[in-house]
Amino acid sequence: MEIIPNVHLIPGVRGVNVYLLLGATPALVDTGMPGSAGAILSYLDGLGLAPADLARIVITHHHLDHVGSLAAIKQRTSALLLAHPADAPFISGEQPPPPAQSAILRILFRLAAPVLPRAEPAPVNATLQDGDRLDLLGGATVVHVPGHTPGSIALHFPSERLLICGDTIGHRGDRLGLPPKPFTVDMKQAIASIRRMAELEFDVLCPGHGAPIAGGAGEQVRAMVRELG
Ligand SMILES: [Zn+2]
Ligand SMILES: [Zn+2]
Repeated sequence: MEIIPNVHLIPGVRGVNVYLLLGATPALVDTGMPGSAGAILSYLDGLGLAPADLARIVITHHHLDHVGSLAAIKQRTSALLLAHPADAPFISGEQPPPPAQSAILRILFRLAAPVLPRAEPAPVNATLQDGDRLDLLGGATVVHVPGHTPGSIALHFPSERLLICGDTIGHRGDRLGLPPKPFTVDMKQAIASIRRMAELEFDVLCPGHGAPIAGGAGEQVRAMVRELG
């Protein structure tokens, strides 16, 4: 589904929004739960793109719903994997994913561990710092938005007036909000990150969950920040 020219939300991916950015450097942002590679690659195929055409995979943060199909997609493409250094060790498997924030979730995850899906690790090819420029669409700037995870990033595309915000801004129903509390490492820091994003110029918002907003999103995020006080 095309949201704005050259920016697609890939249908049929479980658990998360996976975005495809077209242009000279075709890129995926996030990859979905394990088992999503087929839906993603067949969507590319439908647009006339071969797996080898995929040049980059940008991961907004290390959570399973964002990295679950990463290894499978990397194996079938030659895309370079980019992520923030604070989340990279969890993506590459150098460190086990940190335990959930809430005690109840920690217990549930421990009990369910034998049947829970796991992300196969994948090597991170290059790390992204705040302010880095990427040759995606008309040019992207990396914005480090820690809080949901230490290495959460957003991508800002000034020419497209687009912000891809990962899970740092939630979109549930038709309301923007904070990231999900049980899975957020530092809510105070996440709120500071949302305030920082509110200062950027954008109209289109592509969140990790919930529907993308194709117009007027900057004003909606600023209104939400005002409500936070
Ligand atoms: Zn998350
Ligand atoms: Zn998520």
